[in-house]
Amino acid sequence: MDRELELYIHIPFCVKKCNYCDFLSFSSDQKTQEDYVNALLREICYYGPLMKDRVVSTIYIGGGTPSWLAYERMEEILSAIYQNFQIAPDAEVSMECNPGTVTKESLQSYFSAGINRLSIGLQSADNEELRLLGRIHTFEQFVKTYEMARNTGFNNLNVDLISGLPYQNTEKFMDTLHKVIHFQPEHISAYTLIIEKGTPFYDQYKFDAVRQEAGMKTEVLPTEDEAYRIYKMTQLTLKEAGYMQYEISNYAKAGHACRHNIGYWKRTDYLGLGLGASSLIDNVRYTNTTDLFTYINETQNIQMKELEYEDRDKNQKKVLGTGIHADGQLLDRKSQMEEFMFLGLRMNEGISREEFQEAFHTPIEVVYRNVIEELKQEELLEMHAGRIYLTEKGMDLSNYAMAKFLF
Ligand code: SF4
Repeated sequence: MDRELELYIHIPFCVKKCNYCDFLSFSSDQKTQEDYVNALLREICYYGPLMKDRVVSTIYIGGGTPSWLAYERMEEILSAIYQNFQIAPDAEVSMECNPGTVTKESLQSYFSAGINRLSIGLQSADNEELRLLGRIHTFEQFVKTYEMARNTGFNNLNVDLISGLPYQNTEKFMDTLHKVIHFQPEHISAYTLIIEKGTPFYDQYKFDAVRQEAGMKTEVLPTEDEAYRIYKMTQLTLKEAGYMQYEISNYAKAGHACRHNIGYWKRTDYLGLGLGASSLIDNVRYTNTTDLFTYINETQNIQMKELEYEDRDKNQKKVLGTGIHADGQLLDRKSQMEEFMFLGLRMNEGISREEFQEAFHTPIEVVYRNVIEELKQEELLEMHAGRIYLTEKGMDLSNYAMAKFLF
């Protein structure tokens, strides 16, 4: 039987950089975008034949702002994927887009090219918050984008939100949430703001972020208690509105959980194409170069090469990759088990004992008996019907609970 593969395609271009963003994204001219897409097409053509024994179950085009590319180029990318890979007939094909960067024509083109799930980056329904975040759009532009997407025929829409913004309280975020629920998207992702190094927000709010983390009184960021209240109210409000929480930050109506993300958390093999994209293939983690010039150059004539890495015992090892890769590393058995646990426990349904046994040919209790017992006693973890999952309290303390599974 053909093995499953997920595809991730990275489009690193944005109209302008948002104030909180540390993703690999930047503004660019037309020529750079053209060169980039040509390089991406070469990478797609290179990997297709190497993956001919795999069936692609999900494709996720992320960024950056994929909808900022000329839609004709997106058509070319999708057509190259369909020509070079074996795509499952029921594949989930998602693309991220931002309000203000799509038109009726572009949405129609995405739809005809096979995209069947759109993820719209709204972040907030408050125009003042959007301005603070450095977003290029208003809430009204989101409404227009959303309605155009629905009219085009998209019946699987996600809306991305961020809570914990400067000057935000529970009431303000609930206002955003209610406004979004009113539109009834099939999926809502509600992330919490993290103040990342190297962003304008870091320069502005780093001390407040430290105060927040220490549980102290903050100046403009919500306090730790307020952030917790926002999280709990988000859970409750979305539950009442018919959305099932299936992961720490992700909520969906029945049958609309994102299959691509679930694949990540279940450690399905995935191939990341494009600048800085990472992959997991047969337990080797690869990361593509983040240097645009190197990426474009190396795709001219993709060469196999050995990638050196240091394992957890500080031994020098090698794995076979290509000139596009910045690094690659074969995950040892312990690392695979760690990932299995801390990725799987992000999901509300947790992990399956049987799948652990299948993956590692040993019962989970042999490896993690003490940790499981300890977390059960602390009421952070439960076992039921062959599954192990975090309790509500465990989810609230997920960082603490998951860290216990690291060797
Ligand atoms: S649109 Fe998204 S990827 Fe682009 S700068 Fe803003 S947050 Fe970053």
